[in-house]
Amino acid sequence: MPQQPVAYDLHLHTEFSPDSTTPMAVYAEAANQLALHIGFLDHFELAFLDRTDFLNYDMVPQLLEAFDCVHTDYPQTSIGLEVDFYSDLKSKVAEFCDDYRSDFDYFIGVVHTVDRYAVTVLEEMENLVAQLGLREVLERYFNEVEGAIQSRLFSGIAHIDSVMRFVPLFPGSTELTSLWYTRTKELCVLCQKLGVLIEVNLRGLNHPWKQIHPAPSLINELIPGRAKFYVGSDSHSLSEFQTAIPTLMQMHAFLVEHDSLGLPEALQIG
Ligand SMILES: [Zn+2]
Ligand SMILES: [Zn+2]
Repeated sequence: MPQQPVAYDLHLHTEFSPDSTTPMAVYAEAANQLALHIGFLDHFELAFLDRTDFLNYDMVPQLLEAFDCVHTDYPQTSIGLEVDFYSDLKSKVAEFCDDYRSDFDYFIGVVHTVDRYAVTVLEEMENLVAQLGLREVLERYFNEVEGAIQSRLFSGIAHIDSVMRFVPLFPGSTELTSLWYTRTKELCVLCQKLGVLIEVNLRGLNHPWKQIHPAPSLINELIPGRAKFYVGSDSHSLSEFQTAIPTLMQMHAFLVEHDSLGLPEALQIG
């Protein structure tokens, strides 16, 4: 019988992501020593398949093969994908998910871009704000996340309000606090209604936002409604993973204590 892990971190990037060089086995070895279950969650971005450093259809078999090897040695591992949702490519995203669903333990939906500019990269966010204004960027982002949740393609949604990552750097950001709060809460309630897991993403702590996604105040408000969450450190290297472990354990214990931990179906025991 596999031992029950002490906690789950379902969001780790490996050398199959353009922004990481860490092999799966390196995380697995470290996690194994602490009896943690880890889920690999590399990017799959349909709008950027022409970029050679991004995962594409041809590389999926390689990714799955690498996982099989690691999983044999470390059974407390799972394989997911962080799949970008684009409302204008919705049918292509759905087709991809249908074709590959049985190969993966779970798909986590995400929005990183507005008009193909990444809101999670400062220079691209600056471009967007210059073109559209901060309020419009936020509104478009949240609408896109709503589409991702409504699509029913995903077990969970990653960093649901990551558009806020660099927002404190922009003038006028404080006037948008209520828009952020209202929209993020609405989206979390929608997740809860549709049985979609909400990721507690730790990466916001390392950015000007300085908070987890979604914020603890929101998590506290959502718990009585029986929303379900899992924790994702969103680490891109072993040192990020190791640094995140104390907060990860703390958040995980908090969710368990409040009966609010949810796991993708493939990971549920019994
Ligand atoms: Zn992400
Ligand atoms: Zn990620």
